[in-house]
Amino acid sequence: MEKHNQCPECAGTRVHSHGGISAGGGYAPNYLPGLGTFFSSGKFTVRVCADCGLTRFYASPEARAKLRDSKDWRRG
Ligand SMILES: [Zn+2]
Repeated sequence: MEKHNQCPECAGTRVHSHGGISAGGGYAPNYLPGLGTFFSSGKFTVRVCADCGLTRFYASPEARAKLRDSKDWRRG
């Protein structure tokens, strides 16, 4: 994850991250359908560059582990 500390937009190094952010569901759109559990939606780690504001969303390892066998997602 070391390269995540540099912003791909401005090459700044003041990138901050926040894990465990809900991907939605319920009354909100669900951005990771089929990748959560019955009780909770999938999770993102969000990284924001303090210099240019570029914001990136990374699916959690738990969500990514379900991608290949999920009927909601296709490759490509
Ligand atoms: Zn940046």
